[in-house]
Amino acid sequence: MGNVIIRSRARLFHGHDWVHDNEVLKVTGHPKDGDVVGLKDQRDRFLGSAIFNSRSKIPGRRFSRQRQDLDADFFRRRLTLASACRDKLGISSTARREVWSESDGLPGVILDRYGDCAVLQTLTLAMDQRKELLADAVMETFHPRCLIERNDASVRRAEGLELYTGVLRGEAAGVREVVLGGVTFGVELPGGQKTGLYLDQGDNYALVAQHAAGRRVLDCFSNQGGFALACARAGASHVTAVDISADACAAITSNATRNNVLLDVEEANVFDYLKAAASRGDSYDLIILDPPSFTRDRARLNDALRGYKEIHLRTAQILENGGLLATFCCSHHVSDALFLDVIRDAMIDAKKTARLRAHYFQRPDHPVILGLPESAYLKGYLLEMVPGR
Ligand code: SAH
Repeated sequence: MGNVIIRSRARLFHGHDWVHDNEVLKVTGHPKDGDVVGLKDQRDRFLGSAIFNSRSKIPGRRFSRQRQDLDADFFRRRLTLASACRDKLGISSTARREVWSESDGLPGVILDRYGDCAVLQTLTLAMDQRKELLADAVMETFHPRCLIERNDASVRRAEGLELYTGVLRGEAAGVREVVLGGVTFGVELPGGQKTGLYLDQGDNYALVAQHAAGRRVLDCFSNQGGFALACARAGASHVTAVDISADACAAITSNATRNNVLLDVEEANVFDYLKAAASRGDSYDLIILDPPSFTRDRARLNDALRGYKEIHLRTAQILENGGLLATFCCSHHVSDALFLDVIRDAMIDAKKTARLRAHYFQRPDHPVILGLPESAYLKGYLLEMVPGR
């Protein structure tokens, strides 16, 4: 087994499981990329087993504090543990994230279940090399009718991996109907964003829709209509869903039929849509903002913050007095505090007083590990525009 000796100030000593390239002091034993290595401190003390990829900015990712190989038995154990964690939380297995990478001790492995099908991503080189072993373990543990491979996520490039999708076991199953957050979705596998749906927002559809009855709702960055459909089902007086993608808009329309609700679907850039809505003098009682992460790296953080501020400012301009804004941020580069700062700045420019009503998070099938701040990425707020100020 090769070893990676890490520097004394490495994040691993502060509870993290990653070894960044600038934290590597020495590599011994000539490990190949994708091998399992031992992590050691400068006094030769063993710190755990990690997957190794010299081409990555994160050449070491610890997956166990013991000496451990990546064999079939290990994969079955980890899958079973991950699944038990979701069962305990009472999350329905018809649409849930069964395995979430580092949070479940399988760095780079994502497994989502949609009804009788499962979707696998292997986003690190080591896990990609052991894809067949993993696929067998998934079949033995969950017995899905088919296992889809959704390896078109761009993060694979950072590990030197190609992007593609395919079918690993069984046959492509076409459109599956699944219920998430009380809404019925048609999911085409492989298809859609991420592995099919934004499972991380599952609980928030219902939480936000609690406030929708009798309100005029605008769902921005709607994707397949999660918030819009939940609000329409909850008795909103009118719902508009906006997304820039034609495929997403087509999905919203067919999901509306599935849920037996009516809504307006607008294929548009939200920035343009909000600007036009403000100049038309439109007004809404509940607006949802759930943009994609505007930045994948810290370097472009300021541009991202400008984007977040702009949509909040425009939204505040078209919200009725007493109206509600449910706003989400899925970038881990933007901390909770920073996100609130941006919203506050926008409210100052809009000359509005906002009252904080609720705090939202990612659904717990995306578990947050205390030592891995990156695992807490989705946050949201419900704000009320205080009337008469
Ligand atoms: N709210 C959704 C997830 C949103 S994902 C849910 O819970 O399922 C972000 C969505 O924003 C994607 O569907 C993408 O197509 C869309 N999008 C990205 N940039 C956009 C823009 N400038 N204007 C409108 N939609 C945009």
